[in-house]
This record gives sequence, C-alpha cells and structure tokens, in this order.
Amino acid sequence: MNTSEKINLLDYTPEKLKTFFLERGEKPFRATQVIKWIHQYGVDSFADMTNVSKALRNELASIAEIKPLEIVIDKLSEDGTRKWLLRLADGNCIETVFIPEDDRGTLCISSQVGCALDCTFCSTARQGFNRNLSVAEIIGQLWLAKKLLQPDPDSERVISNVVMMGMGEPLLNFDNVVDAMTIMLDDNAYGLSKRRVTLSTSGIVPALERLREKLDVSLAISLHAPNNSLRNQLVPVNRKYPIEELIASCKRFMQGKAARERITIEYVMLNGINDSEQNAHELVNVLKDVPVKVNLIPFNPFPETRYQRSSNNRIHRFRDILVDAGIVVITRKTRGEDIDAACGQLAGKVNDKSRREIHFARIESQEPVREYES
Ligand code: SAH
Repeated sequence: MNTSEKINLLDYTPEKLKTFFLERGEKPFRATQVIKWIHQYGVDSFADMTNVSKALRNELASIAEIKPLEIVIDKLSEDGTRKWLLRLADGNCIETVFIPEDDRGTLCISSQVGCALDCTFCSTARQGFNRNLSVAEIIGQLWLAKKLLQPDPDSERVISNVVMMGMGEPLLNFDNVVDAMTIMLDDNAYGLSKRRVTLSTSGIVPALERLREKLDVSLAISLHAPNNSLRNQLVPVNRKYPIEELIASCKRFMQGKAARERITIEYVMLNGINDSEQNAHELVNVLKDVPVKVNLIPFNPFPETRYQRSSNNRIHRFRDILVDAGIVVITRKTRGEDIDAACGQLAGKVNDKSRREIHFARIESQEPVREYES
C-alpha cells in the first residue's frame, strides 16, 4: 500500500536510477550523484543535493521522494546492542538490530513482515507471515541505522557488516533482497565488501541456485539438525528441500570461490533435542565435504516456548567433537537479551496473522512467493 503517489528513490538500484535519468533525457552520471547523496550522505531532501542543477532538483522533488521508515521504539541494551522497531507506510512494524563488537559493527536486517516458515524455535514464526518488504523498506533499515549511528558521513564506518538475519526468509523475497544487497555492495552507496554482507537462509534450494548466478555475497545456512527426521520437526521447510539437496546446493555455491571463503552453518543449541554427542558426529558427517564454519547459537527463549537452552557443558562437548574433526566452530555470545534483540526474538507486530496457512501452502506447491498484498 503506497500512501503517496511519488516514487521512493530508496527503491532504486544504481542501474534502475540510471535508466530513470536516461528516460528523462538526463545524463547517467546524475544517478551516481544522487545515489551518493542518498546512501553515502543520508540526504532525504533534493534541496540538499547541491551539485545537481536547481531545475532538476525541483523536477525530482515534484515526482520523487526519499522516504525513510518511521522509528517507533529505539532501545539500547546494557551491552551496547541497539534495537529499533520501525513502522512501515501500511502500519506494519519490523525490527532491526545493531550489534557492536571490538572489531566490527553488524546490522541485522529484516526481509519480510513476519515469516511463513514456521521454524519451531523462532519467535518470528509465531507471528505468521504478512508480506514481503520492498527494496526501500530493506535498504531503508541500513539507511536509517547508518544515519543514527554515524551522523558525520565522512567519519569512520560504524556499520561494517550486514546480515540478513532479522525477521523473514530472505530467499522468499528474492528480487527485492537481491536489489537491496546490490545497493549495499555498490561503491557509490555503502561499498560493503561481499565478505561482509551475509544472506541467511533456512534453505530454499531453487532460490539458492538462482542467487549463485545473480549475486556474490556470503552465505549462512540455518541447519540446526544433522538428519532429516529432526530437521523436518525444527525447520519444516526441510520436508520440501531435504538436507542432501541443501548440502549439494551449498557445494555448488562454493565452487570456484577462494579457499578461505566458508559458508556459515547456524546451529541453535536446544537442550536434549539436537545437542547430543551423536548429533555432533552426524553433523561432522553431513558437513564433511563443504567449506564451512559452524556457529553454535545458544537458544534464546521467548514466552511460551517449549525449548530450553543447552547447558554450557553440553555446548562445549558438542563443539569439541566438531573441532576434533577439523571444523572451525564459533560459539556465538548472546547479545541484547535484555531488550529482546537476540537471535530469534524479533517479533515486531504483525497485523494480519490469518494468512499464514495460505502462504505456507503456496510454498509447498512451489508457486513463486513474491507479492502477497492484494
Ligand atoms: N530465515 C532466515 C533468517 C532469519 S533467522 C534463516 O532461517 O536463516 C536468523 C537466525 O536466527 C537463524 O539461524 C535462526 O535459525 C536463528 N534463530 C531463530 N530463532 C532463534 C532462537 N530462539 N534462538 C537462537 N537462534 C534463533
């Protein structure tokens, strides 16, 4: 639902903006100028674009806009993690989280309002699915966070990494996520390196195949289980795309990449569910021919969940088995728990939960899942 008739230029990749200017009889370099103003300098008014002629600025202002997301809540955790609840033009809300560390600053971005996938340990799943985010709504999260965290655009970069690990399944909003990530990588916009832009997926195999051909970014796979019977329960989309197919697709994704590049395997540690020694050995076997690093994520509880976090002892034992098999393992520290900003705790606020069944059925039938708003 668009409340204004104007074109939101946050929706445009550099390529699309070039076409936009060419169609108006302008030179393509105008696109570079405007992209820099919008994304490097965080400008949202054409009047501020001082190297663009006054006539063109006026023309742009009459047909286009740079429309930011609205901040509803801005919460700061004791550990420095910051979470924003952002309202979209149609009233739906999404969440974005910034996680500062010694050597990096990571922004965790949402790709959908809610999620259709129903992973049993994730609080976003309980909200159901509402709709895909537009390019402007995805890149708008980075645009806003950068402006708030780094008010002087010429100062040192605060957001060094972006992960598509917020609400939603990014590969089920393929085109918009690819366009938004293209803007993240563009030197005239955010200029982030492909090693610092990560798409996290529960494993939508056909879309992963398309991604490989379309865009070079880093990949994280939400595996969470080493065999199909367990994964079918935890990540139900596994019934459609089982582990063998997912791993085969991961191998193809890594073909021709530099030896140091690895896929991140995310594995949430659920007490007594997927954290036994046998599970660790199974996982070693599943991952044996794929260049990976495994990220063990302590489960983050939320109200009414049936799961508990594995004890540190169990996590260490699990980790040691992987490490002994030569696998690189990172045990992720939980951040922002006091503000419900930790992994899997993003809930936002979804207005329409009733459509969830329909959407999941559409995924099952392999119908392309793109635009849901009627
Ligand atoms: N749909 C995408 C991205 C969103 S989830 C995906 O599945 O990868 C981002 C990560 O948080 C995933 O690895 C997800 O499995 C994990 N996660 C979800 N709920 C969690 C919870 N309660 N505790 C810890 N990690 C969780």
